[in-house]
Amino acid sequence: MKKKVLITAGPTYEAIDPVRFIGNRSSGKMGIDIANTFVDENYDVVLVLGPTSLKGLINTYRNIKVIDVESAQQMYEACLQHLDADIIIGAAAVADYKVAHYSEEKMKKTDDLTLLLERNVDILFEIGKIKKENQILVGFALETSNLIEYAKGKIAKKNLDIIVANYASAMNGDKNQITLINKNDLDNPVEHPEAYKFINAATIYKYITNYESTYITSPKAV
Ligand code: C5P
Repeated sequence: MKKKVLITAGPTYEAIDPVRFIGNRSSGKMGIDIANTFVDENYDVVLVLGPTSLKGLINTYRNIKVIDVESAQQMYEACLQHLDADIIIGAAAVADYKVAHYSEEKMKKTDDLTLLLERNVDILFEIGKIKKENQILVGFALETSNLIEYAKGKIAKKNLDIIVANYASAMNGDKNQITLINKNDLDNPVEHPEAYKFINAATIYKYITNYESTYITSPKAV
């Protein structure tokens, strides 16, 4: 039977009113490149994709199941339908906040405007709470400083197996510089030179499958 991977990618848009939203600069490229790599390796791939102009990069010769979403809540609900995946990769730049009160009507200009924001669901955190023993959960850490330290913190907080750390300058670009860390080897982050995202997608794929054969398929004492 084919193995299944669930990938989130792109930004989320949190609507303020029918025409405005809160979003971020994520292009979705990293997650799309990861989806293309896994489908080439014969996985069943489900890609839960926020708004992006890069849908044309998705490999259409092979069958990737693409679920288009806009908000974090929609992304979360789509993921819940695919928790039977062997590997779950959160590459999306999920908006941390949404407006507390959505306006059904287009809001009128005032002098200054204060919007009350409330926390969005943390998709990976929620999945981490119910993760099955043999499931591999992979997250991304994107920071402007103290990247490795924050990345390690996220492994523990979100119950991740692996984290891909990259600096915020990677956002919306064709290249990034990734460092890979897994929960069983926290003292040995594997740093890679800057490269095109499709190259890094292959590097991430290899790191995950190597982790799988080391700790999941034939578990070693740690
Ligand atoms: O906590 P932080 O946003 O830095 O964590 C980043 C990781 O968590 C990424 O893998 C991202 O896809 C995931 N995430 C999520 N839901 C959120 C925020 C982040 O799944 N609301």
